[in-house]
Amino acid sequence: MATVTPMMAQYLDIKAQYPDALLFYRMGDFYEMFFEDAVNAAEALDIALTKRGKHNGDDIPMCGVPFHAAEGYLLTLIRKGFRVAVGEQLETPAEAKKRGGKSVVNRDVVRLVTPGTLTEDSLLEARRHNFLVSYAEMRDQAALAWADISTGAFHVMPVARVRLSPELARLGPSELIVADGPAYDHIRPLADEYKIPVTPLGKASFDSTAAEKRICALFKVGALDGFGTFSRAEVSAMGALIDYLEITQKGKLPLLQVPEQEAEDRVMQIDAATRRNLELTRSLSGGRAGSLLSVIDRTVTPGGGRLLEQRLSSPSRNLDVIHDRLAALDFAVNQSQLSEQLRDALRQSPDLDRALSRLALDRGGPRDLAAIRNGLTQAETIAALCQDLDLPNLIAGAIDNLQGFDDLLAMLDASLVAEPPLLARDGGFIAAGYNDELDQARTLRDEGRSVIAAMQNQYAEHTGISSLKIKHNNVLGYFIETTATHADKMLSAPLSESYIHRQTTANQVRFTTVELSEIETKILNAGNQALEIEKRLYSEVSGCILDLSARLNSAARGLAELDLLTGLADLAKGENWNRPKVDASRAFEISGGRHPVVEQALRQQVGEVFIANDCDLTAADGAAIWLLTGPNMAGKSTFLRQNALIALLAQIGSYVPADTAHIGVVSQLFSRVGASDDLARGRSTFMVEMVETAAILNQADDRALVILDEIGRGTATYDGLSIAWATLEHLHETNRSRALFATHYHELTQLAATLAGVDNATVTVKEWEGEVIFLHEVRKGAADRSYGVQVAQLAGLPATVVARARDVLDMLEESSRDGAGSKIKIDDLPLFAAAPPPQPAVPKGPSPLEEMLDSVHPDDLSPREALEMLYQLKNAN
Ligand code: ADP
Repeated sequence: MATVTPMMAQYLDIKAQYPDALLFYRMGDFYEMFFEDAVNAAEALDIALTKRGKHNGDDIPMCGVPFHAAEGYLLTLIRKGFRVAVGEQLETPAEAKKRGGKSVVNRDVVRLVTPGTLTEDSLLEARRHNFLVSYAEMRDQAALAWADISTGAFHVMPVARVRLSPELARLGPSELIVADGPAYDHIRPLADEYKIPVTPLGKASFDSTAAEKRICALFKVGALDGFGTFSRAEVSAMGALIDYLEITQKGKLPLLQVPEQEAEDRVMQIDAATRRNLELTRSLSGGRAGSLLSVIDRTVTPGGGRLLEQRLSSPSRNLDVIHDRLAALDFAVNQSQLSEQLRDALRQSPDLDRALSRLALDRGGPRDLAAIRNGLTQAETIAALCQDLDLPNLIAGAIDNLQGFDDLLAMLDASLVAEPPLLARDGGFIAAGYNDELDQARTLRDEGRSVIAAMQNQYAEHTGISSLKIKHNNVLGYFIETTATHADKMLSAPLSESYIHRQTTANQVRFTTVELSEIETKILNAGNQALEIEKRLYSEVSGCILDLSARLNSAARGLAELDLLTGLADLAKGENWNRPKVDASRAFEISGGRHPVVEQALRQQVGEVFIANDCDLTAADGAAIWLLTGPNMAGKSTFLRQNALIALLAQIGSYVPADTAHIGVVSQLFSRVGASDDLARGRSTFMVEMVETAAILNQADDRALVILDEIGRGTATYDGLSIAWATLEHLHETNRSRALFATHYHELTQLAATLAGVDNATVTVKEWEGEVIFLHEVRKGAADRSYGVQVAQLAGLPATVVARARDVLDMLEESSRDGAGSKIKIDDLPLFAAAPPPQPAVPKGPSPLEEMLDSVHPDDLSPREALEMLYQLKNAN
């Protein structure tokens, strides 16, 4: 320890408390990192690794990032899976010196930055939630609690273990916290699969008794009863979440809204594989582009965008909720002029939730104050636009939430300049005329020179010395200067006792006055004083905002709701979507349905029109299944998915891409594609297919909508056919779901004759001069053939292979018609009947060229001879 400097001792001391995080150790204008941290960060950030001093005789590796650019580096580190403890200087070096003792500035960690606890706009996606999720297990119960501290959203729900995977898929957590031990072991594989960073916490964080106290303290209530009735596991999950926020925010708690309890059966259940297949919020390639969300999102505010993503992730099963939303959307569609006006106002509304959350965590700035002002201004405009209208419930509720901020808005209007700077510490954001003291301080600061100039005139007049000047230097500050010859005049002037002699130089004499030094002090202090006053006012204004935080969150929610509605209305009109009828029946009747993403892609990329199709899976009491056959590329997958998406859109309360749609509420949505390449998850593709199919057959009920695309494809023909066959039967007999089943096993079409709820349907194609033309029309009946060979031809398979395939196919078809074993017929086919392409005739013996080559002995050739040889060879060829 002898070699450890006091600073290094402090560093090591702090670092020991955060072994799992990189420690950003503030030194002046930099955050420095040392030892392993430095090595890791330098590599992750691609910055220079240097060294500083020695520790136990070895060099200490070091790297650093400038304080003012820290956010960008933080983002990179968080994305790369690091956690960062931000250690700040808690006093100035001068203060440290005054304190005496060792002169190291006091430092401590003020915040632990983790993926689930971000608040900075630059670190967050504006249109996505950033959920920190906590999972608690308690004997036979389990629960999830989740919060987005950048918006204050806070939710909790009980969760059965088997439902954990779909719920995680729905929430898409940025970070997951869980008690070390069995719960951690349970959730780890899932988290790994979904690539969610998991943070294990000590058991104490999940203790439900302590948890209850923590929640009560946070919301300043005596008991939880007012929020609902919670299971022990739910309390534990919420408590741990709050504890983790205390740990990471170092006691500064974000503004969480009171916990909203969700029931498991409130939303349409959609598991992870279905979400992936249907590309709801992400396309298969991982981005937002190409997803359903990207095509339907016409919202104009980040809050509206987040709400849409949330809705799309959790379509409702509650008819009242769905009808309320549809009624509101109807209104927005019909009142198109009003909707446009609302959207104009919304476009100018900033992200209230996130501004509020930064203010609460004391990470905000003047722009966040202005964001609240601008948001409330727009809220006022919006409420005025809707005045005296007969509004549907949902809109009336949203408008209610926007009102009652007159006093706050008046105060913000009066106190803030139009476009405030980013940082409070530079001042300049409080409007003139708001605070007298501040106005005076600023006048002094800004007009310091003219005040001094005025004084100079006054003194010149008073003494009669017109050449008298007031000057400034660093030693004396402000002083009156006159030439030595005039000095006497000064001292004999009336009230000359007020001129205090400061200095005499070779030619000049310098004086000051009490008045001048007072002004000087004022001028010098005015700037600082103005800043101090602004800082105080900043706290006051932000305090007024935070006092109303719960209502402001509701206002933000109101704006988001209106944005979502008017966005969906814009979409419905622009894309010619129609209002679905949703009820408690088991209907599923779509006419003129389209796939919104494929339709858009066709239009934008190739200028083609999408062929609309009907679908009727209305079930009386049993199952209703369409068995869809047709060649590859005909549009089977598209048809399957479009029907799932239409149901989903209807249940988020949107219009749908169809002429008409009648949908009996869907409780669960399942979608599977046979043997998709899922190597990333490290299982054999067929195994994945079967595991996923098993999940459906075990879970789907008679309210489920099931979409199965080429199930059984991943194995040998007879295996695959048998599995598809049995799956279809099970869906029909046991699950009794509404289902669409696409297959290339034509044998399955026989089932329609024996199973009452199964109908055959096919996507039509036309054959023209031996080529296949896709009509993309779905009609009842079975496909007569699969056109696989034609499709192969279209794909550019060599003509010989296509011709050969035709022969084999004819033979096979003939043998199945004869009823004879196909084996015999196939054996009859001559091997490789298709003639191989003619090969050039091979001459016997060595060619003249080869003979020439044989005669060459490179070792004997000069370079020149070699060149000549080359020419000869070329000629001989
Ligand atoms: P399958 O599943 O039968 O192999 P897909 O559903 O993948 O076929 O469709 C293949 C392509 O056909 C799509 O990418 C799309 O371009 C086009 N397509 C599908 N359905 C339609 C439709 N209804 N109208 C127009 N084009 C369509």
